[in-house]
Amino acid sequence: MNSIPAAVQIIRQAFPGISQAEANELVAIGEVKPYAPGVILCKENAIEETFFIILEGEVAVTKIINADENRALKHLGEGDFFGEMGLIHNAPRAATVETISPVRVLEIHKTGFDRLLQKTSSMSLAMVREVSRRLSENDEMAIEDLRLKAGELASAYQRLAQEELARREFLTTIAHELRTPLTTARGFLEMLRFHELDTTQRDEILLTVARNVEQIVTLVNDILFLQEVELLEPEMHPVDVSELLTGAVKSLSSEAQKANIHIHLKAASAIPQVMGHARSLQRAFSQLLDNAIKYSSAGSEVVISIESGSDGVCVSIADQGVGIPEHIRPYIFDRYFHLEEVGDNLYGGLGLGLAITKQVVEQHKGRIEVESQEGKGSTFIVILPELSGGL
Ligand code: ADP
Repeated sequence: MNSIPAAVQIIRQAFPGISQAEANELVAIGEVKPYAPGVILCKENAIEETFFIILEGEVAVTKIINADENRALKHLGEGDFFGEMGLIHNAPRAATVETISPVRVLEIHKTGFDRLLQKTSSMSLAMVREVSRRLSENDEMAIEDLRLKAGELASAYQRLAQEELARREFLTTIAHELRTPLTTARGFLEMLRFHELDTTQRDEILLTVARNVEQIVTLVNDILFLQEVELLEPEMHPVDVSELLTGAVKSLSSEAQKANIHIHLKAASAIPQVMGHARSLQRAFSQLLDNAIKYSSAGSEVVISIESGSDGVCVSIADQGVGIPEHIRPYIFDRYFHLEEVGDNLYGGLGLGLAITKQVVEQHKGRIEVESQEGKGSTFIVILPELSGGL
């Protein structure tokens, strides 16, 4: 490329209104210079008096935001200019400009430029017009940027406020949930201390105290487990889902026997492994099985099936119990959602089980669904991505 005529043409495009002769003079007082990539042409905060017009190549404009953050503002290319403030007053550079490709620039120094401006006022007008147009463009960009940031800040603030509210509600609920069994246990312990009781009465009271203490231990364990699942990324390993379910069935077999519920475990052959945290997954499946037993009536069946489908490994736990009324289905996975009464039956519970299960399943990038018919039963379906699915 012949630099001089090209520079004249670029200047006339960059500053509409400049004549051919004025552009020639501008090039004549300047110097066309090539730079390799990675050269800093303007240094933020330095007092420099050179103005640059890019004839070829690309530069990056960056600005220091905090001590350790350098924000990329924009890229400039052919016909763009920078460093204009250096010609107008002695302000320090507002940003750093670095070449990011081989670049050719026309450099104009303040002293030459001042002399030229005194000779031709039409050129200075054309240049000032263009400089101010680009400055106002930058202002608009900065305002838009600020608007976006303000929006981000507002939603971050809202999220924090919601979290704070949830945290307070959480503490109030826990305090309440702990107070009930503790107060009951204290009342019964006082009866033991201050009343003459026979052996049967003593045994009954001790059993009630033990039940209440057990309830507190379960609540604390559930809360700790939920916190752990939420806060810690567990170490994942290849896991055999059938083994986990066999373990869950075993751990709940005496409960099932007591309630006279028959559990059938049906696993298709060659179920692929999943990438998972065995303890958390077993806990999630045990919870579903525990619910299936709890919400079933004596003599009924719970069927667990494990299959491999197009979505991954699919576990379904189907009971023939009370079912879930349609209007509460959207809430059953919420923390502390518990339905005390279904028909004539009363059910104990703290409403943390399904919240734990859902949290664990989602941590494994899976999903949980429920199908239910009131009075006929419920089926909970957990789908986990297969190991080969690239978890
Ligand atoms: P909890 O059982 O302590 O109440 P969960 O989080 O395990 O807490 O369950 C939330 C609610 O979902 C229960 O109160 C119950 O109404 C409903 N639910 C869960 N599993 C079943 C099921 N297998 N059959 C009927 N209802 C169920």
